[in-house]
Amino acid sequence: MTISESELLAGVPDGLLIGGSWQPASDGATLDVLDPATGETAKTVASASVQDGLAALDAACDAFPGWAATPARQRAEILRRAFDLLQQRAEQFALLMTIEMGKPLAEARAEVSYGGEFLRWFSESAAHVQGRYGANPEGTGRMIVTHHPVGPCYLITPWNFPLAMATRKIAPALAAGCTVVIKPAELTPLTTSYFAQLLTDAGLPAGVVNVVTTASPGPMSESIIADPRLRKLSFTGSTPVGRRLLAQAADGVLRTSMELGGNAPFLVFEDADLDKAVEGAMTAKFRNIGQACTAANRFLVHASVVGEFTDRLTARVTNLVMGRGTEPGVTIGPLIDDKAVAKTSHLVQDALDRGATVRAGGTAVDGPGSFFRATVLADVGAGSALLREEIFGPVVAIVPFADEDEAVALANDTEYGLVSYVFTESLARSQRMVERLHTGMMGVNVGAVSNAAAPFGGWKQSGLGREGGDEGIHEYLQTKYTLTPDP
Ligand code: NAD
Repeated sequence: MTISESELLAGVPDGLLIGGSWQPASDGATLDVLDPATGETAKTVASASVQDGLAALDAACDAFPGWAATPARQRAEILRRAFDLLQQRAEQFALLMTIEMGKPLAEARAEVSYGGEFLRWFSESAAHVQGRYGANPEGTGRMIVTHHPVGPCYLITPWNFPLAMATRKIAPALAAGCTVVIKPAELTPLTTSYFAQLLTDAGLPAGVVNVVTTASPGPMSESIIADPRLRKLSFTGSTPVGRRLLAQAADGVLRTSMELGGNAPFLVFEDADLDKAVEGAMTAKFRNIGQACTAANRFLVHASVVGEFTDRLTARVTNLVMGRGTEPGVTIGPLIDDKAVAKTSHLVQDALDRGATVRAGGTAVDGPGSFFRATVLADVGAGSALLREEIFGPVVAIVPFADEDEAVALANDTEYGLVSYVFTESLARSQRMVERLHTGMMGVNVGAVSNAAAPFGGWKQSGLGREGGDEGIHEYLQTKYTLTPDP
């Protein structure tokens, strides 16, 4: 089915979802959502106040006892229906994400597929939460271990994967029996509201998921986090904001999950298959226009192959087609906004000032829209800001290394530890990298690692907790141990 952009946007709710009804902000405030490829307003939605945020928490608290007591199988079936509905509405979700976030349609479709898998995966996990029962080792009693939903949760998501970041939190929370208030990023709130409507269509009871879009996330979040009825905060976003939220959560000793920033090293050893390495680099760097926490940030390449790798990668990068993601043939879209373009320009200039050379791109495109050319920089010098900071843009920064020890030292020289990529044809070397690289995830000869069945998450300042996999549902469960006498 084809749908026009205007029809699609008209069907996206523009209110706050509180206790099952869509409503305007209590003070009438609104938020304009822009299309980053044109700079024009795509839709205007309600901007929640502190009072609206707390009303959404009231609704989540009211709905919690009923949802927690709903049999796991019923909760699972609602998630499964949501998965099926998402397949039927895949094109609408893909187009909506391209409009509000800018990624090319093919990538938006891939996100619908990836994001949907969390619904299916956690529909399957819901019925498999089991405790245990047994004699204690001294033989003086029986131990019962049970798992319980933690309670009402506050979920905060970023703009770069508007659907997948929401389903990766909502699905395990609902599977575990928790209710939620979700606050999507102010730059891309439309997909979350559209998805909440889908959950209602799938039969989710009122108040189980509440949506508060807002232009002022700080004050509202602080009030919700300070409320003693809240039991869990799950955040995906930048490390600086995560740090601030962790400090707020400390007062209430709140359960937290933190999926934060990355600075992924991409290692190409002298024994790598360069076809695989170049293919992996294109995915790890240019997926989502470089705006992924898992994006390769530093390309560390053995000196003996750095020339050939750079030439081959540059040839591929030069063939990327930039434009609005809805246009046929476009393979790279805009950055999320003009601030992102300015930040990318600054990082590139800093590297050039320190001796890097441009092999492709290197500059922003004049408006309308927030475009930056796909860029390859060779010989990026130590001390360059783009080796320390998350670039979050389509810039390849290449650094040569002399041997494995130097590669490992460079790779681990960061406060982040989300993911690393290793290209080698040696099994022994890839096994050594598993032990030597300080990241929560690693791809060997592949440029993308995300999967609903995998425990996604980082080491060091990349975060706390895991999303997906068998671990995912336990982020929303708390354990109780009970001792009873011998029968
Ligand atoms: P951000 O930290 O600016 O914003 C993330 C969310 O936090 C948004 O919803 C925003 O409205 C909200 N927020 C901002 N300030 C807040 C405050 N004071 N109080 C409460 N909420 C606040 O990040 P972003 O620019 O939206 O996203 C990019 C970042 O997200 C990158 O650092 C990226 O690495 C990270 N990210 C991490 C993962 C992961 O799984 N580790 C996944 C995607 C993105």
